[in-house]
Amino acid sequence: MSVERSRLPDEIKHWYGDMICDYTYTLGIAGEKFFTGLKEGRILGTRCPRCGAVWVPPSIYCPDCFEELTEWVEVPDEGIVFSFTIAHAGPDGKPLQEPEIYAFILLDGADGGLLHKLGEVRPEEVYIGMRVKAVWAPEAERKGAITDIRYFKPVE
Ligand SMILES: [Zn+2]
Repeated sequence: MSVERSRLPDEIKHWYGDMICDYTYTLGIAGEKFFTGLKEGRILGTRCPRCGAVWVPPSIYCPDCFEELTEWVEVPDEGIVFSFTIAHAGPDGKPLQEPEIYAFILLDGADGGLLHKLGEVRPEEVYIGMRVKAVWAPEAERKGAITDIRYFKPVE
């Protein structure tokens, strides 16, 4: 590492090398409770005492009116497809054998929702406003992760 100092701010110095970086992200207060809820098969949100909005995923401050949120509510694991996309390639860019459907699901009684996969439905059958319900992983397999919900499927 160089210890020489430059007095010229536009004189850019650089050197080549590799830096190893490890990151650990914490869930935060709201995330901790949200993911613990998923493990128990519950979708939790926070309700704003000022504007009445129910935030899912939960926030500890209302994004609309900045009120501190301390009231936790359970919302149904059912809602509507607000938006969706059909993926034909995986994260590695390689073509998928079967296309996957990703949707933003607006949960009943919430002013938000979850981005998740849709299952038990063909891409050409999905539409905005379609009612869907969570399909949970068996209790013993839940880890407190978003994948504790396997996918959302259409409600008959
Ligand atoms: Zn609010």
